[in-house]
Order: sequence, then structure tokens, then C-alpha cells
Amino acid sequence: MDAQALAHLLANARRAVVFTGAGISTESGIPDFRSPGGVWSKMKPIYFQEFVGSRDKRREAWTRVFNKTAGWTGASPNAGHRAVARLIEMGRASSVITQNVDNLHQDSGVPSDRVIELHGNASYAKCLDCQRRYEIEDLRARWEADEEIVCDVCGGLLKTATISFGQPMPEYEMMRATAEAEACDLFLVLGSSLVVYPAAGLPMTARRRGAQLVIVNREPTELDGYADLVLNAEIGPTMTQTLALLN
Ligand code: ZN
Repeated sequence: MDAQALAHLLANARRAVVFTGAGISTESGIPDFRSPGGVWSKMKPIYFQEFVGSRDKRREAWTRVFNKTAGWTGASPNAGHRAVARLIEMGRASSVITQNVDNLHQDSGVPSDRVIELHGNASYAKCLDCQRRYEIEDLRARWEADEEIVCDVCGGLLKTATISFGQPMPEYEMMRATAEAEACDLFLVLGSSLVVYPAAGLPMTARRRGAQLVIVNREPTELDGYADLVLNAEIGPTMTQTLALLN
């Protein structure tokens, strides 16, 4: 049985790392932004340069945030997130690298210092200049008053803490993700089609260092041919079964 094979690999791993993509959060009702019918097929992304350069684009971006147009926040963790949290709590996985911006790993109980967010986080905002953190709800009154939303400390522009199109990948997170991929002996992909860089590179980095690669995804991925185990299945039920066999 599938879950049995995965449980066996996890039981024998010294240090696993989990990599998650949109597929783990679609089970919480968050749309996969790349899929047909996903967010970007319905609305145009606002590029970083447009946000910085245009008051209208910033107004539009904040309206999307407060209207929850993208549907990225406000969902609850599912069985897949809870299984990842349990793997980390048990010490079987060192951390989770995620392409998601929905904060659901933290919401499921993973300590924030064990979550490496490659695309940032949509659940709070940050000053683009001094990096100070702001809670979204604290900014609502300024949006309602149609004020420019800027930093109280330095006057810099505030933006959700996501990595927008046109914005460079976060260096520190990329460095940590690469270090985790190099240090693990089992790289477990949950719900990523592994198409977009750097998602495609990290499993191969792990493999080159001798790690085993497991991919759990509803559809086949680009890297299935390199994997030691591929499970085309729902993540929540698969991981719940796996954890039950591990305990
Ligand atoms: Zn600032």
C-alpha cells in the first residue's frame, strides 16, 4: 500500500524535509493560482514595479487584499497541514519549505522558524524599506479612507509580505531552503507540480546529495522520473494514513 511505503521511508530517514505547494492548500479550499479557474486566470497579477510605481495599482492591490479577492487567506489548515506539523513535532522532519503564502503551516502549529516561505506571506504586511511588520486589519481604516498606506516609522510603502511577480526571490529563505535540501536524506514533496523555479531545483539538489525523493501530488510532475516513490493521491488522506503507520 502507498502510505505504507511512505511510512517506511520516513521511519528510516535521519532527517526529512517537507516541500509544499498549492496542492496541499487546495484541500482547504484555497485556489491553485496557476490552474485553469485559478486566481490568475480571473485577474491580472500586479507586478512589483507597477505597485511601486503607481498609486492606482497600490490602491487596486489593497482593494484585492481587503476584499479577499485572491482567496489566499481566511482558510483553515487541513489534515495534510496537520500531518506536516506532526512530522516536525516528532522530529522526523526538520522544517517545511513552502511555495504557499497562506500561513496555514503556522496555523496548524508549526513554529514559524521551521517554515521557510519562498513566496512570502499574504497574512500580514511589511514596509518595503525598513521591513517593519504590520497586521493587515490595522491598515483597513487607511484603505477605507483612501489614504496612501505607508510606514509609520520611515514613510516607506507597505505591501503584503508576499513575493510579487517581478520581485526578486528572498535571498535568506532561498539560502535556508538550499541548506535544508543539502542536509536532508529524504525530500518529501506534497502538492507541487515542481514546474516553477526554484521549486524544480530543490528536489534535485537534495537528490544530488543522495537524498531520497518522494512526490505526493494529484497529477504527475516533471520530476516523477527521479523520484524513489510517487503517489498520485490526495494529500490529507494519504498523510493521515502514513502518520498512523508511523506512530
Ligand atoms: Zn518602514
